[in-house]
Amino acid sequence: MRVYLVGAGPGDPDLLTVKALRLLQTADVVVYDRLVSPEILSLVPTGVTRIAVGKMPGHHCVPQENINELLASLAAPGRVVVRLKGGDPYIFGRGSEEALYLLRRGVGFEVVPGITAAAACSAYAGIPLTHRGLARGVRFVTGHFKDNETLALDWDGLADPETTLVVYMGLAHARQIGERLIAAGLPADTPAAAVQEGTTPRQRRVVSTLGELAAAAEAAGLSSPVILVIGRVVELADALNWFGSDPVSALPKVSHRAVH
Ligand code: SAH
Repeated sequence: MRVYLVGAGPGDPDLLTVKALRLLQTADVVVYDRLVSPEILSLVPTGVTRIAVGKMPGHHCVPQENINELLASLAAPGRVVVRLKGGDPYIFGRGSEEALYLLRRGVGFEVVPGITAAAACSAYAGIPLTHRGLARGVRFVTGHFKDNETLALDWDGLADPETTLVVYMGLAHARQIGERLIAAGLPADTPAAAVQEGTTPRQRRVVSTLGELAAAAEAAGLSSPVILVIGRVVELADALNWFGSDPVSALPKVSHRAVH
């Protein structure tokens, strides 16, 4: 009796791990999030029970406690339950809350890491997260806060020109994030980018500066899911912009029969 907490990666089905694909093909039940792309769901064989527990920003359609309970109640001897999450289950994915709940209920679990949005969307937008001479480290933070709370991040610590900053769920507060970082000392002309629906055919990216990013993203009409990448590595975004421009997309796609 086991629940698999599986990362689906950022959207492109070719970025699923072999283990994730194998589990999708042998699952009895797949419980999935809004972030899981239609292209990935199409790899789940017909006849497998699919349960959507998607969350839209501001509209929590299934409360987390109910998801936890659902997973525990689906677990049964011989049944393969796959909890499929966008990106990596343990990066802003609440996978560890689900794991702790399953543990308390005596249900076994396994975690299958996925490629997280920061790694995948930046690469597909032409941005390396580190680069000798441009960034010595990376930080992943969440820009999501309840409506009436101010953003309680360690702005002084984050305003480091030597470190790439990736903000998940940061679109709604992009303006405030930029202002706070500039007030903490990060130059307004620090290169910055926003990537929407990275790695999918719908990917869009806006490359700008910290001072201008919020306005540029708004002018471009970007909408969730978006990650923000802030730091000097974004200087390389045009030079390394390979996605959508070349035959890489002509590689054979994964097929239902490729893995047994
Ligand atoms: N567990 C996921 C993150 C979940 S939080 C992971 O590891 O990637 C949801 C946020 O992830 C979104 O608001 C957005 O900031 C980011 N995100 C996930 N997929 C994305 C994509 N394909 N393009 C851009 N941002 C994405």
